Order: sequence, then C-alpha cells, then structure tokens
Amino acid sequence: MTMIVLGFYKYAEIKDPQQLLIDLKEFCIHEHFRGTILISQEGINGSVSANRENTDALRKRLKDIPNFKDLFFKEEETYSEHPFRKMKIKVKNEIVRFDYDVDLKNTGKHLTTEEFLELYDSDGNLKENVVLLDTRNDYEFEVGRFKGATHVNLQTFREFTDKVNLDDLKNKKVVMYCTGGVRCEKATAFVKEQGIEDVSQLNQGIIQFGIEHQQSVWEGKCFVFDKRMVSPMNSEGEPVSNCHLCGTSSDLLRNCRNVVCNLFYVSCLACEERLNKCCSEECQKIVDKPKTEVA
Ligand SMILES: [Zn+2]
Ligand SMILES: [Zn+2]
Repeated sequence: MTMIVLGFYKYAEIKDPQQLLIDLKEFCIHEHFRGTILISQEGINGSVSANRENTDALRKRLKDIPNFKDLFFKEEETYSEHPFRKMKIKVKNEIVRFDYDVDLKNTGKHLTTEEFLELYDSDGNLKENVVLLDTRNDYEFEVGRFKGATHVNLQTFREFTDKVNLDDLKNKKVVMYCTGGVRCEKATAFVKEQGIEDVSQLNQGIIQFGIEHQQSVWEGKCFVFDKRMVSPMNSEGEPVSNCHLCGTSSDLLRNCRNVVCNLFYVSCLACEERLNKCCSEECQKIVDKPKTEVA
C-alpha cells in the first residue's frame, strides 16, 4: 500500500479554531492519520500521512472550511509505513511562531518553479543582483540548499526579524525559500515592511520544487521533520556537509538523544554508533547513566 504525505498551509481567518480542532481531531484519529496539524486564528498548517482514500477525504474536509476553498496541497508518495510517529492536532497563537505581527496580505510575490529557475543563468549560477535567502534553520541549510543561497544563521525561525541583514537586501532582487512555503509568507512580509521593494518567494517551497523538477539547482538533501529526516528532494552528488564530531563527509542529520540538549547535528555512521546517537560525550554520559546512579 502506498502512503500519501500531504502538506498544506494557508493564512486566512479561522473564526473558531477550537471547534475546527474538535472536528478534525475526531476524523484524523478515526481514519488513522499521523502527523501534525496546527490551527490558529491566522490559519492552518499541516503535514500528515494516510492512505489515498483518507487523504482525499481530508482534502475535501479542509476545502469546506470557510475561506479555504483554494487550499493548495503538496502530495508526496512514500513507502508503506507512516513517516510520522503519532497524530498531533493543536490550537496555537501562530501556525509558525514569528513573535512579530506582519501584514500577511502584503507578502512577497509567489514565484512558480519555472520562474524560480529563471533566477539562474545557463551555467547554473545565480544571476547578478539576485539575493536568494534561505529562511530555514542552520541545520537545514547545512545538509542541503539551492545553489548560491545565503542563510540567516537561525536557530529558530523567530530569530529572523533580529538576524536578517536588511542592508544586504537593499536594491537587490530578493527571493526567499523554505521547506513548504509557510515561513516565507511571514519573512517576506516582514522584509517588505522594512522598506525592501523587490521581494518574492518560491511558491510552496522546496518540496513543491522537488515534485515538479529534477534537482538541477539543488545541492545536498532536504531535511523534513519526520522519521524520514530527508525528503525525496535529494541530489545525487557528494554530501555538502561534514560530521560535526570527526569532520568526515556526511549528510546524516540527527537529533541528539539527550532530550534536554535536543540538538540537530550532522553525524557520520561511525560517530553515531560510538556516541550512541548523542551529539557529544557529555550528552551520552547523561543518557546512558545507569539508573542506580540517579539520586
Ligand atoms: Zn563522524
Ligand atoms: Zn546533545
């Protein structure tokens, strides 16, 4: 059986997030969905997996929500197992935490994947005057990115407003991208409010680019927040990153097993085994401490 991974988001007013939560939760649990759906008064953001019949039924339900008739779905097929561990549906203040109010009706222009490819010349280099800004976190950028992209040194997306260097964007053609597009809506709106004029974003993000194109201008892998850790958007070539522990070439992204640390880091297989899936010897000592030693 093929499993469908459905990604979707839209910023539009939801009058009663709590009621929508109740409706969707019952349906998703009954129909054996897994993944995450976040609901807020500002909109909805989700990534879930189920079989074809159930994902089709969910599409219909979501499009029936007032203001959501034109909700766009990114659909990937995957192996027969759920890539997500459980089903989580929550009501939040924001569907992507930014901690800064922006006018979501004034976002960057949305570029189709074809328009995005036109940012590159025939040699595969970014055209002059284009600044391609990756709005994802550091570890996501590290294992894979579009050629010529710049990142903002983010540990979390809400650092964007402090860390983005507006001087570098002045009088440039600014194009942003993220995994599925949901972060760039806020990031482009913010940058426009700061007076940058020519701002656009890759419509529906890296995932949609990977669905529509071979990865000619992509290098490395695309991290996703599920068991797969990387999406099917992968280049064939050598890893573009190195193991943080020993420096050998590797593109395996790992989440430190010490929950207090919770670091995302690049590891090689040998270091993963040596440190028992921890980012450091310190974390390994904490995780593997014999129970009797705990006071
Ligand atoms: Zn290593
Ligand atoms: Zn750690």
